[in-house]
Order: sequence, then C-alpha cells, then structure tokens
Amino acid sequence: MNKFSWYEAKSVEDALQQVNSTVSEELYQHTNKATVFKSGGIDVFDWVKEGLLQPEKIVNIRNIPGLDKISYDQKKGLSIGSNVTLEEIASNPEIKNNYLALHQAVNHASTPQLRNISTLGGNIAQHNRCWYFRSVDHQCRRKGGDRCFARHSETGENENHAIIDNSSCVSVHASSISTALMAFNASVVIINSEGEKKIVSMDDFFVSPAKDIGMENILTAKELITEIILPAPSKNSRSAYIKEVARESYDWSLADVAVVVEVSGNTCRKASIVLGAAAPVPYRSLEAQQAIENKIINNDNAVAAAKAAMAIAKPLAKNGYKVPMFTSIIEQAILQTT
Ligand SMILES: Cc1cc2nc3c(=O)[nH]c(=O)nc-3n(C[C@H](O)[C@H](O)[C@H](O)COP(=O)(O)OP(=O)(O)OC[C@H]3O[C@@H](n4cnc5c(N)ncnc54)[C@H](O)[C@@H]3O)c2cc1C
Repeated sequence: MNKFSWYEAKSVEDALQQVNSTVSEELYQHTNKATVFKSGGIDVFDWVKEGLLQPEKIVNIRNIPGLDKISYDQKKGLSIGSNVTLEEIASNPEIKNNYLALHQAVNHASTPQLRNISTLGGNIAQHNRCWYFRSVDHQCRRKGGDRCFARHSETGENENHAIIDNSSCVSVHASSISTALMAFNASVVIINSEGEKKIVSMDDFFVSPAKDIGMENILTAKELITEIILPAPSKNSRSAYIKEVARESYDWSLADVAVVVEVSGNTCRKASIVLGAAAPVPYRSLEAQQAIENKIINNDNAVAAAKAAMAIAKPLAKNGYKVPMFTSIIEQAILQTT
C-alpha cells in the first residue's frame, strides 16, 4: 500500500475543489488516480489494498452535511442522499411500503455489517467484480490490455460473467441495488466542480463496454453524486425483486431481477423489468417488458416474458446455467406482483 494524504471534505464544493487542483481530465482511469473520493470505503480500500489503486490523496466525502437524508413525498417521490447507508434504506418504512423491490434488493445486498457502512452513492459507483479486472497480474481490456481473460473458451473462468451484451468485456456490474433502482426509473443527481447540476436517468448513467471499455459509468473525476431520486409510484403499481446467489448468507448476485408493473385488474398495463448480473451494466429487458405489457399476469404469460428475455442470451463456456436461472426468477418475480 502506498502512502497517501487524507482530506476531510466539508462540503460538496470543497470535495470537488480538491480534485480540481490535483488531477487532470486525462488521469481519469480506473487506476492511477491522483485523488479519490471515499464514501463508505469498502470498494476504495479493496482497490488500494490489492495494489490496483495508488492514490496520492483520499478525499473523505462521508461526513459532508446534507448527503445523508431520505425524503419521501407522495407526489414528488423519493430522494435518497448519496451518503445514506444501505442499512438506512433497508429499515426505512416508506421505502418498504412504496418501493418494495428496492427494499428487497437492499436487504439482499452484501451483509448486515457491510450494509451499515456502504453508501448508496458508493454502491452504484463501485467497480465490477471480475476477478481478472481485479488482479494486478491481468492487464485486461478494461485496464488498457489487449484481451479479455474471462472470455477464453478453455482457460477463462467465466461462471459469474455476462450472458447478454458480452462481445467486448464479459464482466457484470456489481451493484444489485441498481437493478431495482433502474426498474423504478430512478435518476442520479450529479454536481461538477463548476457547481453545475445534472440529472441523469439510471438507464444513461452506466456505460456499456461496447460503447467505452474504459468507463463503467458517466462520472468524471470532477463530479460527485449527491442524491438518487425516484418518481412517485403510480397508485396501481406493484413490484418484486429476486436474487440468486451461491451462498445464502451473503454473496454477489449470480442473477437478479426487478419487476415494476402498473396494473388494471390483473392486466399489466406497463412493465419495467431489469436484469442484474446478466450484462456488463444493469440490463433493461425490453423483450420481457413488451411480452407482458397488456397481458393478464398469469403463469403462461410470465413464462413467455421470461423466455423472451432469455432469447437473446449468448452464454459463455461456463455460465450456461444462468439462462434457466434467469428464466425462473423472471417468471417468479412477474407472478409475485399479482
Ligand atoms: C463481500 C461483499 C459483498 C457485497 N455484496 C453486494 C451485493 O450483493 N450487492 C451490491 O449491490 N453490493 C454488494 N457489495 C458492495 C458494498 O455493499 C458497497 O456498496 C460497495 O462496495 C461500495 O460502497 P461504499 O459506500 O463503501 O463506496 P466506496 O468504496 O467509498 O466508493 C466506491 C466507488 O464509488 C465512488 N464514490 C463513492 N461515493 C461517491 C459519490 N457520492 N459520488 C461519486 N463517486 C462516489 C468512489 O470514488 C469509488 O470509486 C458487496 C461488498 C462486499 C465487500
């Protein structure tokens, strides 16, 4: 581990000023960043400990006043500050009552101890967990190398990897909470060092490696997430989230799905269906959405939607099991909304 300085940011502007003065735009890569924001620090310190990141300065944004609030309004919807912990989200009754799939996703993420420390901003901005990407010994494409070690048909350990949109990098995004956030059409509020604010939908926040292999999301070094906002749920909406893991006590997702539907009677009028651990970024399944919209929510139609979602899957050598796993959880999650 290298020596670094520590800065306690007093405000969003103060934090962004630190980056402004020490790093140039070109330095924004996954590794070798001069200045790094630290919120809960779970992912940041994993990177530092494993020698993947040698920061000169760590800016602690965890204690910035005002970023730790949850507010809910029936008309305006939900706002979650970027420093709100996963535990605070899991135990919030308004989130449980109005955004059930988000409550379920947060409750199934990591462990109780980690949820006490992890923040929502850090969760959606964390790096993927591909073991080659996180190994100093493997210079994969995302780190400027010329190959994807996981993709190799004989030597690639790709059992946890992507089955959709996996033509360049086959990693899957680590945030299972983002699966639910995207299904609720959440947006990310971002402030830059000029004090300008932008609001970006979750669908546009993540960057597919096919578009830019060096980026996982649209954040630049001079930007901070301040809050995540979710529109108010419509009166007739229902939701469900299911996650499959190797070990029940805690684990990264092998396959997860969030379903948000608007219904009239038993008929689905509008569906938002997002898959986690299926593709390098949370994947909105337009195929499943179209298959279930304007149909009665029953077993046959749920099966048809799940099959439509998986029709485009292209599993790798060791992750073919994900196709029946996703088929099953998509079907179950749709049925759980009835
Ligand atoms: C064993 C284990 C199991 C886990 N299982 C799951 C799981 O099942 N599902 C899941 O979703 N997560 C899981 N996690 C992730 C974990 O819960 C944390 O959410 C995550 O590691 C990072 O959160 P953090 O607040 O510690 O972020 P940090 O480590 O502080 O930051 C992570 C990244 O985000 C950036 N960042 C932080 N805050 C901001 C901000 N406000 N604006 C801009 N950039 C920011 C940092 O610079 C850094 O690049 C797991 C982690 C572990 C170690």
